[in-house]
Amino acid sequence: MKKFLSPLLAILLFSACKKPGKIKVCHYDVASGTSKTIEVYPNALAVHLAHGDLLGDCPAVLSTTICDQDWMVKNLDVTTYRNGDPIPQVIDPSAWVELTTGAWCYYDNDPANSAIYGKLYNWYAVNDPRGLAPVGWHVPSDAEWTMLSNCLGGYSIAGGKMKSTGTIEAGTGLWLSPNTGATNSSGFTALPGGIRTGDLAIDFSGINRSAYWWSSTSYSIDRAWSRQALFDLSILDWGIGIASGEPPFLKNNGMSIRCVRDWNANQ
Ligand SMILES: [Zn+2]
Repeated sequence: MKKFLSPLLAILLFSACKKPGKIKVCHYDVASGTSKTIEVYPNALAVHLAHGDLLGDCPAVLSTTICDQDWMVKNLDVTTYRNGDPIPQVIDPSAWVELTTGAWCYYDNDPANSAIYGKLYNWYAVNDPRGLAPVGWHVPSDAEWTMLSNCLGGYSIAGGKMKSTGTIEAGTGLWLSPNTGATNSSGFTALPGGIRTGDLAIDFSGINRSAYWWSSTSYSIDRAWSRQALFDLSILDWGIGIASGEPPFLKNNGMSIRCVRDWNANQ
């Protein structure tokens, strides 16, 4: 009897594995320009991701049109490149600062931050030829960020029109008080996801105080352009100190990613 048990168990286990659960994706229909949540079998997942679907439920609102640009209303939360290759998660701070290849992390290495703020990526992930943004989207260039900023009245007030409203203290939002100028009139819904600094002494910094997003534009061998919004100002700017001559952030910083839709000449 014992001799038969193991093969039987193996068959039972094999049959169980042959009935995989379905996975939710937010499927984008190019023809209608709308998105809806569908459930697909794991073996069909790659096809859906390849035509630009996102993992998980569709957000109630996927994107917002600001002037001629269509921006996602949530930070990127993927763990694979566009072709399905995994992006490594790097937890250890000393390993993180040495990276010159793409990686992601949770703020504070805490998975609970991901659903709200998305994941933090170094710039090497932004620049990977396999593509970080889903099909149909891209990481904005510095010039595209400037277009957004100009559209919202200039860098000194654009951040206020992008920030989600409310404060931690009042229990009405995720930004610390005073959340200066915040109206979210653009629908961008900027959240203060913080940064992984690339500085071993600090590591993570700025959650609830600052939002940081990469651009796709390199500045030098180890630095790239980005944008930030702050809890106590209404700016959307390049970062503290840059106006007075400091260079842009190091590429080994971990920042949020906000995608903008590819321009489609047929639309
Ligand atoms: Zn699909």
